[in-house]
Amino acid sequence: MTDITDFFAAQSPTPIVYLTTINHKRIYLKQDYLNHPIIQGNKLRKLKYLLLAAKSSRQTLISFGGAYSNHIAALAAAGQLFSLPTVGIIRGQELAATSRWGYALKTAAQHGMQLHFVSRQAYRAKQANPEIQSIIRQYPQSMLIPEGGSNQLAVMGCKEIMTEIAANSLENSMENSATNFQAIFAACGTGGTLAGLIDGVAEQQLPMRVVGVAVLKAALNDSILQLSQAHQTVDWQINNDYHFSGYAKSTPALIDFQQQFEQQFSLPLDAVYTAKLCYAVFDLAAKSISPQRENWLIYHSGGLQGATSA
Ligand SMILES: *Cc1c(COP(=O)(O)O)cnc(C)c1O
Repeated sequence: MTDITDFFAAQSPTPIVYLTTINHKRIYLKQDYLNHPIIQGNKLRKLKYLLLAAKSSRQTLISFGGAYSNHIAALAAAGQLFSLPTVGIIRGQELAATSRWGYALKTAAQHGMQLHFVSRQAYRAKQANPEIQSIIRQYPQSMLIPEGGSNQLAVMGCKEIMTEIAANSLENSMENSATNFQAIFAACGTGGTLAGLIDGVAEQQLPMRVVGVAVLKAALNDSILQLSQAHQTVDWQINNDYHFSGYAKSTPALIDFQQQFEQQFSLPLDAVYTAKLCYAVFDLAAKSISPQRENWLIYHSGGLQGATSA
C-alpha cells in the first residue's frame, strides 16, 4: 500500500514550456498532465486533501459522474493506490450494460470502484433523491465528494498549482518567472480548478489575471463565487466563447486545430478540455488589439487518460 503523505511529498513540480509568440503574446504551457498517468492533471490536485482527510478515518469515498468522467476514473485509481474503498454513482441506467462502457467506467471498474447506475432524473437531485440516499446508506463510514470533485478541499489542492508556478519563477528567475506572467488560462468544467488558481494568485500576491475557458454551456460564475475565497481581490473572468456548442461537442475547425497543435509542439491535447482551451488562447492572442508584450500561461489540466488506453 502506498502512503498518501509520502506519495504527495514525492511529487515533483511539472514543467513549464514555451510554445510560440502570437501578436506580441508569448505563450507558455504548464504540463500538469505529466503528474500521473491516470490520476492526472487537475484531478490529482483536486483529490489530494480529500484523500488525506479520508485516510485518517479510513472512509469510503463516494462520488458522482457521467459516462466520461475523468474524475470518476481518477478517484477509482486513487482509491486502489491508497487502499481506500470507492463508490461511483453514475448518471444513466443504460450504462449498467458493460458493453456501453468507455474509458472512464472501464478504468473505474478495473480499479475496484463499486458502481451504481441511476436515472438521469435521480442523478440530477444527487443526495436529495431517495434512491441515491439508500445507496449512500449502504456505506456508513463514507465521505461524499461532489460531481467533478469540486469542494473546498479540492480548491485547496488546486491552489498549490500557483504555489508551484511561483516557486518555479524563483528557480528560473528569468523570462518565464511567474511574476512575469500577465495571465493564466484554464479549462473549466465545474470551476473548482479555476477557483483554486484564483485563490493561489491571491495567496502568492501575483499580478496576474485568471481566465477560465468554459468547455460547456453553463453559468459558471456562481460556482466560482462559492468556491473561491479571493474572488473579490483577483482579476478573473470566465470566457464563454469557446465551448463549441457544449460538453464534448466539437467542430472540424477544432479537430484541425488539435491535430496541428499536437504536430507543431509535440504535445498531446484532449478533445474535451485542453483542445478548446488552447484554441481559445491562440484565438484570443491573434485577435488581441493590445500592442502590449505579455507572457501568457496555459494550464494543461490533463484529460489524456483515455487517449492512450481506449
Ligand atoms: C475535469 C477536468 C477539467 C475541469 O475541471 P473543473 O475543476 O471541474 O473546472 C479540466 N480539464 C481536464 C483535463 C479535466 O479532466
